Amino acid sequence: MADVSRRNLISGAAAAGSLVVAATHASAEGEQPPFGPTPAPLSGKELPSFRFPLSSQPPKVYDGGWAKEATVAEFPVSERLAGVLMQLSSGALRELHWHANAAEWAYVIKGRCRVTTIDPQAHSEIVDFEAGDVWYFPRGHGHSIQGLGPGDCQFILVFDNGYFSEFGTFSITDWLGHTPVEVLARNFGAPEATFAAFPKREVYMTKGPVPPPLASDPPPGSLNVGAETHRYRLLAQRGERFPGGSLRVVSERQFPISTTVTGALLRIKPGGLRELHWHPNAAEWQYYVRGRGRMTVFGSQGRARTDEFAAGDVGYVPQGYGHYIENVGPEELEVVLALDSGAYQSISITAWMAANPPLLLATNFGVPESTFASFPKREAILPE
Ligand code: MN
Ligand code: MN
Repeated sequence: MADVSRRNLISGAAAAGSLVVAATHASAEGEQPPFGPTPAPLSGKELPSFRFPLSSQPPKVYDGGWAKEATVAEFPVSERLAGVLMQLSSGALRELHWHANAAEWAYVIKGRCRVTTIDPQAHSEIVDFEAGDVWYFPRGHGHSIQGLGPGDCQFILVFDNGYFSEFGTFSITDWLGHTPVEVLARNFGAPEATFAAFPKREVYMTKGPVPPPLASDPPPGSLNVGAETHRYRLLAQRGERFPGGSLRVVSERQFPISTTVTGALLRIKPGGLRELHWHPNAAEWQYYVRGRGRMTVFGSQGRARTDEFAAGDVGYVPQGYGHYIENVGPEELEVVLALDSGAYQSISITAWMAANPPLLLATNFGVPESTFASFPKREAILPE
């Protein structure tokens, strides 16, 4: 568990509000979390639970949708990544906003939505998403999300900072609602009366008409689209197929804008095993979409912790910690993964052992060399 000083820091930050967290992080460079270098992680005798039941949390309900979040406030081990499950009804708009202290990565679970974005070069992109698509908004870039129907759109948002809070973002209505009307009049070259009907506080989410389809051939110059799209169709990727399942990975290699997050869609057949591995450069945040899984995390010094996961649960693996996932249910297990580095790195124990001479392995384990002759040589998802 976190030591006392760290815990106080976390609760202190939560009590003081997310603006404090944002300001602290904005001044920090590089990949370190906002409170300096990561302390010796999870140094207690026992490992804490790496499971958080996100979907059974009470939602924050808005006009047109809801959100449930898992940050360090709710899920203390997840220091490097936070997540939000959000649903928008047809026409519901998650208003124009930005995040000062995190980039936003998302996977669309069901339904359709439209995203608008702006970057510091004034490139804008308006693009539609459907189930299986991924988006990425660099830290601080403005964006909005609107449900397109038919039916609700549900997506999982992941932020590359556990101290982030979706409920403490920078919203356009919040800002304009707290700007003197004479300044607004000057800024927009309009009479003060124009702003009388503007909201006085943050809207966050609101209902509206479903927008018309995007023009398939917008007039030249109507959009200043940058070189890098914000959409990647992860489910459309073939990915890697194994006897026990499949793995689709989207790092900055496939999706250049996604410089701080690698995403993945992991499917494991009943009885299958995503074998023992670790990620040298990143923590792993997981959302269990379907099925029943069991993950074991190895935390050194004789410590291993197993948790069971059902649909709607979140899992977390600290950077460099060994782990494996088993499908323990009767149906396919589907997990959305997000790692907090744009470069995908994974080392499998199978490949590691296969890269060492059998004589060394025999010495290491104190067993005959022949023991290893039939061991697999490549990373895989193993069947039942
Ligand atoms: Mn956002
Ligand atoms: Mn992993």
